[in-house]
Amino acid sequence: MEKVCPLCNSLTNIEITCPNCGKVMEDSGRVQEFRDSYAPEDELEYENGDCRHVFQCINCHELKNIGIKSVFI
Ligand SMILES: [Zn+2]
Ligand SMILES: [Zn+2]
Repeated sequence: MEKVCPLCNSLTNIEITCPNCGKVMEDSGRVQEFRDSYAPEDELEYENGDCRHVFQCINCHELKNIGIKSVFI
């Protein structure tokens, strides 16, 4: 068994609602890819091993850093 992020491996879709306007937010990839433009302040909030993704609102472009629980496959 291997521990993987379900989002990185397209195993599941999660729907995040924008805290700003209530619209759907889209997965914009892993936080690591956003290092230059977006530095997460709540990095320590998540457990080790979680994959962190950045979600961006399709409406107001709000960014949100979400910790994704790994699953065993
Ligand atoms: Zn991931
Ligand atoms: Zn929004």
